[in-house]
Amino acid sequence: MPYRTIETFTTESGAAAVATGKDRSRIAASPLAALLSVSLALALLVCPAWGEAKVSSDTIVLRGGTVFDAHTGTMVPDQTIVISGDRIERVIPNSTAFDPPAGSQVMDVRGKYIIPGLIDGHVHITHQLNLAHMTGDEVFPLFLAAGVTSLRDVGDTIMTQKLLARYAEANSGSCPRVFMCSPLIDGSQPFHQDIGWAVPDPEKVPDFVADMAAWGVTTLKLYVGTERPVGKRIIEEGHNHGLIVTAHLGLYSAQDAVADGIDCLEHIWSVFDYIIPDGPRPEGYRSSMDLTTPKAQDLINSIAQHHVRVDPTLTIFRNSLLLTDLEAVWKNPDLAHVPARLQRRWEAHRAGQDLKPETFDLRKREFDKYQELTGILYRAGITILAGTDTPEPYVIPGFSLLDELERLVESGLTPAAALQAATINNAGILKQETQLGSITPGKLADLVVLSADPLADIRNVRQIEQVIRGGIVSDPQELFKLVPTE
Ligand SMILES: [Zn+2]
Repeated sequence: MPYRTIETFTTESGAAAVATGKDRSRIAASPLAALLSVSLALALLVCPAWGEAKVSSDTIVLRGGTVFDAHTGTMVPDQTIVISGDRIERVIPNSTAFDPPAGSQVMDVRGKYIIPGLIDGHVHITHQLNLAHMTGDEVFPLFLAAGVTSLRDVGDTIMTQKLLARYAEANSGSCPRVFMCSPLIDGSQPFHQDIGWAVPDPEKVPDFVADMAAWGVTTLKLYVGTERPVGKRIIEEGHNHGLIVTAHLGLYSAQDAVADGIDCLEHIWSVFDYIIPDGPRPEGYRSSMDLTTPKAQDLINSIAQHHVRVDPTLTIFRNSLLLTDLEAVWKNPDLAHVPARLQRRWEAHRAGQDLKPETFDLRKREFDKYQELTGILYRAGITILAGTDTPEPYVIPGFSLLDELERLVESGLTPAAALQAATINNAGILKQETQLGSITPGKLADLVVLSADPLADIRNVRQIEQVIRGGIVSDPQELFKLVPTE
């Protein structure tokens, strides 16, 4: 096989990184790796025969690991995964029966646990960052360092997303895959002026949806000011173009949106807010709501029957309700990896909160209700997604998805179900089930190597040794170096 030319480039943080060819670097992005690669390139010029044997192989073999089967939710011991280029070529039971091809890079992963690359199902790559004078590319390596190899954007400015998605593909050794979304489709006065888009007239929907399809979005996102006539039309037109339609609901009720064929509901509020009993709403009513009323049961049954996915995004609710009470939120150790600009923006937000200590119990019980409802939806057979709303305040890029998995398990999902939410379920809502979401021959080689079993304790998803994205192996410690500190 021909070896690819090695190029060096400079990241936003000023650190050198390497990429070979278009998309298939085998070498983790780090200054040392860059130096080694340049030396290797020079060596190849002098000694092509030696070089060909060492670096031309397109094959990586992960030998002897325990592999998470995202379809069955089980761990399968003693497997060998053969990666060829950016794809999983084979998964072989009984690792000793396989002889790796000459020149392949063999990784001994006995005693390790291999899970599919994680997908964050609710991300904004321009919103919030823009307020901190940042761009998404600056935090992309953080996602990868946390094992998050794909992002499902759920509302941002369209041209910036396109540029960032292109950047991520050109720098695939340090960036996750980006799946684009429309701006937040809203009423005549968009709630978020930076990423909202007014579509108040159903007659304007066909042109708008055709425009979004031409930009290459995967998802159309309805926002709080969208009313039923526009929402229903967006669902119809979106489906005509093969797009997924999701919503953070407001004026358009969950009952109507589900009946009209919406694919997904963002935030637990998009369910919770539509099972509130009619009549007066005393202070703190959310923290003591009965989730078993006929009204609740009817909506839950309808969501299940229509196969609507729900993306609860518990991390953002915990953060916003308990921001000033829980040091685990505002002194999260993962903040060590977050650029100072973004931390200052979050700190300013925290300083502006008026969450009184005497209301802590009430707010805590409100969050408990959101987790209780998440568990009810899961037990009703509804497909749960794992999404975070990063980079909302203290929702740390990448690492917040690991927090979200913990919150889902606290809500009643098994560790396996939580992992399925972040892998095969999220691949499904992106229409990428043939490419992503499980360790299956033919799919893209997006994997995470863990040193401990996440089914024994979901917090073991933090024990990341290597992240593989499209066949490129990265060390989280090297990825951190690519993120600006300021
Ligand atoms: Zn959001």
